[in-house]
Amino acid sequence: MKAKQYIPITLLWILLSSFSYKLGGSYKQVRGLKTVVIDAGHGGSDTGAPGEYSYEKNIALAVALKLGALMKVEMPDVNIVYTRTTDVFDPPQLKAWKANNAKGDLFISIHCNSADPIRHSEFVGYKYETRYVKKKKKKIKQRVKVPQYRYWTTPNPAKGTETYIWGAHKNEEKELAMKENEALYLDSTLATQVSDFNPDAPEKMILYALKTKQYFTRSANLALTVEDEFKKVGRISREARQRQVGIWVLQATAMPSILVETGYISNREEEDYLNSQEGQNEIAEVIVKSLKRYQYSLQHQTLEFVTPANVTPGPDSTKR
Ligand SMILES: [Zn+2]
Repeated sequence: MKAKQYIPITLLWILLSSFSYKLGGSYKQVRGLKTVVIDAGHGGSDTGAPGEYSYEKNIALAVALKLGALMKVEMPDVNIVYTRTTDVFDPPQLKAWKANNAKGDLFISIHCNSADPIRHSEFVGYKYETRYVKKKKKKIKQRVKVPQYRYWTTPNPAKGTETYIWGAHKNEEKELAMKENEALYLDSTLATQVSDFNPDAPEKMILYALKTKQYFTRSANLALTVEDEFKKVGRISREARQRQVGIWVLQATAMPSILVETGYISNREEEDYLNSQEGQNEIAEVIVKSLKRYQYSLQHQTLEFVTPANVTPGPDSTKR
């Protein structure tokens, strides 16, 4: 299994180097992060998951703004683009467009997790009910014993962080996003590489497929790094995962993309943490540390984690 996963990456490397060879080394490959798109999940009429006293959309925005502010200090060379800086609702298509239009090198979506309350039931005894049944055209009165239950819910204790990348089964959509946004990347390295091909040349789609694989590996590495950094500050990590449902923007953005579930708003203890300045600052610090490690791995071409297979394909633990 492992050898199999090396093949596409090796192939990608060979292909990409042969492109640069073909161009006579006329372009310099830009390494690392130039533009990062920060997406605060939900917004406006889309409140996201509710907590006991707060909404996901507000936490996502607060964390996104703190993340951007910290990046400005810690990574001053990186250009930051937000999909929103106020409490507005934008359809996912617009969010993806903003990210693609900004020619992002990375898309980070900030969310909070939520788990449904746990339902319980308990037998409390019998109740006698009177029923009438028809027997030989006669109505007969019957007393029947009916079991009685008490139902109630308790808050779901689920807590911790998760970082998602798009599911591998969505790779084709990612390739399409790259093809559709080609015009936006006219002055980019990718455009230089594809400009030699006819618009519908199969080789071009192969390049997009390979690029998607490269983005997948990069996204997987970053997702694993983010979860690693969360563990270091004592958060419970529910690991990096491939998103099976929802969050269309993850595959609609023509760049590596991750979605960080910063904690469970449905857990009262974590809701308090997510709403606190300390909590929000800590999350921003964790992501910036991860981005610096990611930046280093891009610049030195060392991917810290070998294979995206480390990122388990779903199931998504909760809705979103
Ligand atoms: Zn969400």
